[in-house]
Amino acid sequence: MQVDDAALVARITGRFTCGNCGAVYHDVTKPTKVEGTCDVCGGHDMKRRADDTEQALKTRLMEYYKKTSPLIGYYYAKGNLCAVDGLAEMGAVAADISKVLDRP
Ligand SMILES: [Zn+2]
Repeated sequence: MQVDDAALVARITGRFTCGNCGAVYHDVTKPTKVEGTCDVCGGHDMKRRADDTEQALKTRLMEYYKKTSPLIGYYYAKGNLCAVDGLAEMGAVAADISKVLDRP
């Protein structure tokens, strides 16, 4: 899944959930209708994951670049690398992943 780092940080750091019912929101893409109030249950106990901060995410990205990203070259050299645009609309991402998985 190809995702621009800055876009990934913006997506993840904006996430929050209702501590009462678990509904998921985002500061930019899916805010609550009334700030601080869950649209689903009316709860006010909004939670953010401790590791969804910008600094924590940058640390996670550095770990990815150190430990996982070398596999991109490995699979590319074997002709087995398939890239999917991870920033596309959710249905398009799912369709692209299905296409990759259905390859002969
Ligand atoms: Zn709720």
